[in-house]
Amino acid sequence: MTHPDPTDTPASSLYIDGEWAPAADGGTREIRCPADGSHVATVSEATTDDVHRAVAAARRAFDEGPWPRTVAAERGRVLRRVADTLRQRREEFARAESFDTGKRIVESRIDMDDIAACFEYFGTIAATDAGRLVDAGDANVVSRIQYEPVGVCGLISPWNYPLLQAAWKVAPCLGAGNTFVLKPSELTPSTAILLMELLTECGVPAGAANLVLGAGAVAGAPLSEHPDVDLVSFTGGLITGRRIAAAASATVKKVALELGGKNANVVFADALFDAAVDNALNAAFVHSGQVCSAGARLIVEESLHDDFVDALVERARGIRLGGPFDDAAETGPLISAAHRDKVTEYVRRGVEEGAVLRCGGVWGTGDLEQGYYYLPTVLDGVRQGMSVVVDEGFGPVVTVETFADEDEAVRIANDTRYGLAGAVWTQDAGRAQRVANRMRAGTVWINDFHPYLPQAEWGGFGESGFGRELGPTGFAEYREAKHVYHNIDPGVSGWFRGPGEEE
Ligand code: NAD
Repeated sequence: MTHPDPTDTPASSLYIDGEWAPAADGGTREIRCPADGSHVATVSEATTDDVHRAVAAARRAFDEGPWPRTVAAERGRVLRRVADTLRQRREEFARAESFDTGKRIVESRIDMDDIAACFEYFGTIAATDAGRLVDAGDANVVSRIQYEPVGVCGLISPWNYPLLQAAWKVAPCLGAGNTFVLKPSELTPSTAILLMELLTECGVPAGAANLVLGAGAVAGAPLSEHPDVDLVSFTGGLITGRRIAAAASATVKKVALELGGKNANVVFADALFDAAVDNALNAAFVHSGQVCSAGARLIVEESLHDDFVDALVERARGIRLGGPFDDAAETGPLISAAHRDKVTEYVRRGVEEGAVLRCGGVWGTGDLEQGYYYLPTVLDGVRQGMSVVVDEGFGPVVTVETFADEDEAVRIANDTRYGLAGAVWTQDAGRAQRVANRMRAGTVWINDFHPYLPQAEWGGFGESGFGRELGPTGFAEYREAKHVYHNIDPGVSGWFRGPGEEE
């Protein structure tokens, strides 16, 4: 495959202060498609100096530029224009996303639709909440809360949903009047490059939107350390998240962390069987399990276990793997050779600890050997405490545990340091609500798996992070609340004695 990407210009893929720029030292990185190793693009690899230049541009644009001073209604219009233009350029963006990630083009198209919906949502709410009056209990006081942008935002995003995860940050960030420096994953920069072009076309002024590319330690870390960055919003792994929170604490930045998950999919014996099996398959194997909310822990009622797992294994064995433009493919490759090695080791260790390998556990063969394919894998008979139950695998691997009753189901579901998402399957509406209420996770699906809405908050409990994306709370992350207290009839307070006044 060749990548018909006009941005394939090594000299100029950093976007700083409204200009395309090369890395200060001329450094570049080759991007290759994980489906077959083909060359996708050669992009600039930022140095720390480049990141500092981008932060300085975002700082100037915030302190002196037009964007933070643009009225909210106009900022909203710009975001809605971004949504419309993205819909027009959907195919170009989707292809770029599929080349970088190896994911099927149909999935990338859905991602682009979701991204447009995200820009439209934040474009619509940008001007809806101008603050509120507060009753100060004094007729001579006007007291109000007004919302202001936080400042310069460092936005750091992962490779699994490259533009979607970036959009969840960029749209509310701009909607609230901030400026930003975006640092996408070094593995998947293409759609972020296209986004900068599109933001500029749609009216985001120079310096408000900046892009740096490169490895986390060089191009990402300076954003969490820099004193001129006011907020860091990060989506990625737990270990990186801890580093970022620690680095950001030195300058007391606002921090939002969207980290991993080890999400429970709880199935009661009265669940609709075919729907529950089918969705357990989606939960675990969509995008080859490289989804933060993947249903990687199947927790099934004892009496249903054998039938359910037999059906799941049969379906998992039938999943067809292939590249982005293979119409027969149902899911794609892992992102890199290194990631596939990690998943391989993860499964090997699970089996060594006693998990029963029911299917998968091997790399793709034949035509699939040119990419980083790993077959859908079901690990049965696992116990709490085993590494495959505790650690996020981020691959096409689902573990199976059983429970005897509702209390045990909830206890197993909550026995994780993470708390991103989870699901419960039952036809008993009362039980569905009870279990959903008791699950410690930021999203709980009842009789479904994976849907999310731009107007509904997304984020984690526990070590899945803090802060929320999407919804009104996702917008609030990018705003400061300011209390303005106006005494319209000022007088002496009488607190201290005036000159000549006796005690
Ligand atoms: P990662 O943590 O390796 O990298 C994420 C981003 O952080 C990349 O841009 C990377 O270059 C950058 N980075 C790495 N080290 C850094 C440092 N020291 N300072 C600043 N930036 C640094 O994660 P990944 O492998 O790209 O993504 C997979 C992880 O993301 C999984 O754990 C997954 O669960 C998580 N994720 C979470 C959500 C969510 O909404 N909670 C969504 C998608 C992915």
